[in-house]
Amino acid sequence: MTLVTSPEAREWWEAAKNRRLLVQSCRTCGHRQHYPRALCLRCGGVDLGWVEASGGGTIYSFTHSHRSPDPAAFEPPYTIAIVTLDEGPRLLTTVTGPGIRCDARVRLEWRAAEGGQNLPIFATEPEEG
Ligand SMILES: [Zn+2]
Repeated sequence: MTLVTSPEAREWWEAAKNRRLLVQSCRTCGHRQHYPRALCLRCGGVDLGWVEASGGGTIYSFTHSHRSPDPAAFEPPYTIAIVTLDEGPRLLTTVTGPGIRCDARVRLEWRAAEGGQNLPIFATEPEEG
């Protein structure tokens, strides 16, 4: 699997190598967004920085896939999910663990990929009670 990235996302991928999940943050209006872009989606500003995500989130939506474009990397069946980070932005990712459902709490984990890269994935948190 070859990683193709944009100039705006280079710093994000470098941080991911070190298992740090960054969220792009606008210094003009405070808006946070993912994926990294050249402009703020809210105000159009170009003064963009980063905040480190806490690693917590909730499942916004998900599907189970029984086919994989790369079975060595993602052995089917696996779960593809959109996770809403506690910082606000949503991230397309994979989720593991029991109790996968919308609004379930998840916690960041990392999966090693080729070339020393790490990919953010999520696991469900144990249900309370
Ligand atoms: Zn902005």
